[in-house]
Amino acid sequence: MFDVVVVGSLNLDLVVSAERIPSPGETVTGTGYHEYPGGKGLNQAVAAARAGARVAMVGAVGDDGAGETLLAVLTDDGIDASDVVTVEGVPTGRASITVDAEAENSIVVVPGTNGHVSPAVALPNARVLLLQLEIPLPSVASVARRAADDGVLVVLNPAPAVALPDDLLAACSVVVPNEHEVELIGGVDAVLATGVGTVIVTRGAEGVSVHSRDARVDQPAFPVDPVDTTGAGDAFCGALGARLAAGDDVTDAVAFAAAAGALATTRHGAVPSLPRRSDIDAVLGPR
Ligand code: ADP
Repeated sequence: MFDVVVVGSLNLDLVVSAERIPSPGETVTGTGYHEYPGGKGLNQAVAAARAGARVAMVGAVGDDGAGETLLAVLTDDGIDASDVVTVEGVPTGRASITVDAEAENSIVVVPGTNGHVSPAVALPNARVLLLQLEIPLPSVASVARRAADDGVLVVLNPAPAVALPDDLLAACSVVVPNEHEVELIGGVDAVLATGVGTVIVTRGAEGVSVHSRDARVDQPAFPVDPVDTTGAGDAFCGALGARLAAGDDVTDAVAFAAAAGALATTRHGAVPSLPRRSDIDAVLGPR
């Protein structure tokens, strides 16, 4: 039995820096190149593991070097990767990111094997199922329904946001959009009307609002000096899943997750910025 199972995406991010982003047909000389593990699924699995949960990741990689790199990232953080399948002949998901001197970027995402996660994918036993929308929607809906039928708490981070079928929402106990995504999925009231128990809206430096049928409770952000907000939402969702699996009520789990999100903004990158339990506890102070 795991605390958290994540069914979702794994990507290798290829980041090129250049003075400026080339126009169509143009070639410019770059100033740097780095590869980083990414994908919301992988990021949230790592965030949950660092927050103290026993985590399994379910997804797909290609039979290539990128796939091997991402599997190693999971196992380095103690995440069970036995249900990450290898798809022959399809590349591992990648994001090609060009960043200019002003830190503006342009991004091409190739879903690759993330588009091959099937509705019949394995679903290890866990207390919490954590989902995002970087794998096919029918697969997200299928695992959500199967987990809900087994009494698993289903937490959905609807990113990137699309209109969601009611039967997917009906299987979710908790939905965690950011302030932009919440509008794209129809707004808080419409989501609550489908039977979702709690909608948690993350609002960056403005903190978090927690909505249920009869109440709204606000969690202020923890004051930090942000250097890079990449990964804050993933840190939040992973930490939230870990604490809900540990039996925290929503209020306590949200406070812990907000501390994790704040810490993630104080370091560069996504995976390198995901905080560990001891750092999160230090921000929270005695409880
Ligand atoms: P996303 O990356 O999905 O847009 P947010 O930016 O809303 O997600 O970040 C998730 C959570 O992380 C926020 O609700 C907040 O608790 C925390 N957080 C994000 N940015 C900051 C910040 N600048 N200062 C403090 N906390 C932050």
